[in-house]
Amino acid sequence: MNAKQLENVVIIGSGPAGWSAAIYAARAQLEPLVFEGAISEQNRLSGTLPLGQLALTSEVENFAGFPAGNLGAFLESALPAERRLMMPPHEGHGVTGPELMELMRQQATNFGTRIITDDIVKVDFSSRPFKLFRGEGGVVEAKCVIVATGAAANWLGLPSEERFKNRGVSACAVCDGALPRFRNKPLVVVGGGDSAVEEATYLTKFASTVHLVHRRNELRASKIMAQRAIDDPKVEIHFDSALAEVLGDDTHGVTGVRLTSTTGGPDTTLDAAGVFLAIGHTPNTAFLEGQLDLTEKKYVVWKKHFRTNTNVEGVFAAGDVADDYYRQAISAAGTGCMAALDAERWLAHG
Ligand code: NAP
Repeated sequence: MNAKQLENVVIIGSGPAGWSAAIYAARAQLEPLVFEGAISEQNRLSGTLPLGQLALTSEVENFAGFPAGNLGAFLESALPAERRLMMPPHEGHGVTGPELMELMRQQATNFGTRIITDDIVKVDFSSRPFKLFRGEGGVVEAKCVIVATGAAANWLGLPSEERFKNRGVSACAVCDGALPRFRNKPLVVVGGGDSAVEEATYLTKFASTVHLVHRRNELRASKIMAQRAIDDPKVEIHFDSALAEVLGDDTHGVTGVRLTSTTGGPDTTLDAAGVFLAIGHTPNTAFLEGQLDLTEKKYVVWKKHFRTNTNVEGVFAAGDVADDYYRQAISAAGTGCMAALDAERWLAHG
């Protein structure tokens, strides 16, 4: 698909914020163009493939309107066959992250949203129309931009973690957990938030034991999700512990971990075939450096109370890229809607 000479609204990003913004902007007849991201190895490794973080999760139990049930027939009727090719059959559980994202994408498409499967790698917001530089080459000009590029998983930065990436070290249990190398083996998950307990619980399907390693003596995760991990006989929680080194060799990949105590105890080692990092996220804003005001943690700054305006007139932000506090699919979708309404009003009144 080609961009027009001058776009009304370009939405960068394809998570719940991006698609909700697109649905509202399309229904307001602004003919939005979404850059959903490129399907590339680099984006796979950095966790920034199209459809965002939700495409990397399992069931989504807390998105209002999607109680557990058999969504199979609905998915078949709502999504074209080619978008269902990679989906496992639905078995009466809650909606999955990839299903939810495909439904949002389709809903945006139904109202006339145009989609380009490419990255925006650089922007020039210094004058209008704004200029957006595509990963594949070429520039798109836009009257108004909604930034909804979300966030991506963090890594600890250990040399041993880097060495064994893709050979037992991962930041996405849902993407990699079912690999044969992890079957009936002990696995390690690092972190204490909702992602960590969700990943630990998910990995019990494949692992003999899941060691959940957390640096404090209390989980950060929501009570209901934490309790699920605590009650799971296959999950063993190691409090006050930090991953010091991933152990392994070139033949087998990961074979274990060395943990240090955060309270001064001795180091311990655990056998493990896999290590899954779930230690939070960093917003995808590198391409905005120097163009938009960012916080110390590199989140886009919302400049007006309860509005999605950035410091540049005509540029709005939605979802996790600007939210280091709620970071929920439903709150991202909500701010996506707000950004589209803010953009529509700004275009109408300048
Ligand atoms: P998070 O809530 O920020 O938790 C990150 C965890 O990693 C914390 O326990 C933190 O420890 C630990 N951590 C951070 N840096 C570390 C380091 N360098 N070394 C060791 N541990 C480190 O991130 P998240 O779990 O990805 O969740 C992000 C947001 O998504 C949250 O709002 C969460 O509620 C939401 N979420 C929701 C669901 C769901 O409802 N289904 C699922 C996943 C995520 P401390 O606790 O000591 O800071």
